[in-house]
Amino acid sequence: MLPAVALLSGLALPAAATDHAFVVDIAKADAARVEALKHGAGVHWWLELGDRLVVAGAREPLARLVDEHDRLGEVADVTPEQLALRARGCKEHGEAPGRLLARGGRWELRRLAAGEFLPKSDEDEPHAQWRAVQPNQVIARQYRLDHAVAAAPDPLVQPLVDATDADRWFADVTTLAGWDRSSYGTTSLTQARDWIGDRFAALGLTVTKPAFTFSGSGGTVTRSNVIGTWTGTTLPNEWIVVGGHYDSRNTNLSGTTNAPGAEDNATGCAGVVELARILVANRPQRSVLFMCYAGEEQGLYGSKAHVAQLQQAGDLAKIRSVVIMDMIGYSADTTLNADYETYPAFAAYMNTFAAAAATYVPALQVTTSTNAWGSDHVPYLDAAKPTVLAIESDYDVYPHYHRSTDLPANIGPNARAMGAAILKTNVAVLANEAGASDRIFADLR
Ligand SMILES: [Zn+2]
Repeated sequence: MLPAVALLSGLALPAAATDHAFVVDIAKADAARVEALKHGAGVHWWLELGDRLVVAGAREPLARLVDEHDRLGEVADVTPEQLALRARGCKEHGEAPGRLLARGGRWELRRLAAGEFLPKSDEDEPHAQWRAVQPNQVIARQYRLDHAVAAAPDPLVQPLVDATDADRWFADVTTLAGWDRSSYGTTSLTQARDWIGDRFAALGLTVTKPAFTFSGSGGTVTRSNVIGTWTGTTLPNEWIVVGGHYDSRNTNLSGTTNAPGAEDNATGCAGVVELARILVANRPQRSVLFMCYAGEEQGLYGSKAHVAQLQQAGDLAKIRSVVIMDMIGYSADTTLNADYETYPAFAAYMNTFAAAAATYVPALQVTTSTNAWGSDHVPYLDAAKPTVLAIESDYDVYPHYHRSTDLPANIGPNARAMGAAILKTNVAVLANEAGASDRIFADLR
């Protein structure tokens, strides 16, 4: 709104008021400190991105408010209109406009200079997204800020968590990375698909491989999802989906070779297989669809095809909840961080994962976000199904992301700890979601 006084006085309109902004490290701050920073003297507006907080206002009071050793950066003469969120993706597709101010959740906060505009969406990078920011917005939130005390472990769930086998999972990652899994390759992608199906069949699941056709930069192809279905013992018409994509890519999205995709996304796909082993051994009351998708890298075609198939069959109403894993094995350091994200309507469901991490995997720091984008969770969210994505927080600094060097050995020394942390978290939630904790029998004892 224009200041009325300027209009009445007939003076030239002042330029839009600008602020001074500090980027503040809140990784160790408690909730009270974060609130104090947001509402401190001189603060005009703020943005929260996980363990980063941007506070903007008059420089002098801000400088008194923000401890010097917590300042990660500062920028002068800034307005919210100059800022934009960019989805954190791989770095293969050219320099992004603007200057990076902070990263948090699965977003980068960038400041665009005069004359810089948000780029149009890039056909060759379907994950690339930009969003405008609103002042005083939580873009991503450290779960621990609002939940200082974790619940005690449930003795019926703990054995399932303990059954997670990181070596067994990583052996499957290695097997899957032995195949080129480009969407435009042929035989090796099919071999990977059939190997996944064989794992599901060995667990006694009913295996289907529904085909779908999509068009991308490499032409029009027909590919298949792999579904291993467990039919629930007592609630067979309530379905849980546990999924992750098995296709891969390198710097060339339409290339046909050299796409081992160990981290993206043999880790998530092997994670689906590992969760199937653990849950099926505990005979879930509800039905569970263990799924690996094709065509994710070109635009989520496998998960879109599954949602369409559910709609056509009249089965969408049976879906109770969905968990997707995409890139769960890389950590740049020994501090384990994961992002869980959904849409606002399903924040409570998302928080059950963060709570499970706090209880069963206290070493795992979880950041939550209701600004979901860019993986196989989105088609289910768009169909109004409670769905989360689980992803390691360091994915976009993985040096081999979307490269032909995305090999098991290059995921690094923290792979097993990182993968196990996310898998155990998901097992703990799914034990209850699927009814695989033997509670129905335990209650009778
Ligand atoms: Zn992926």
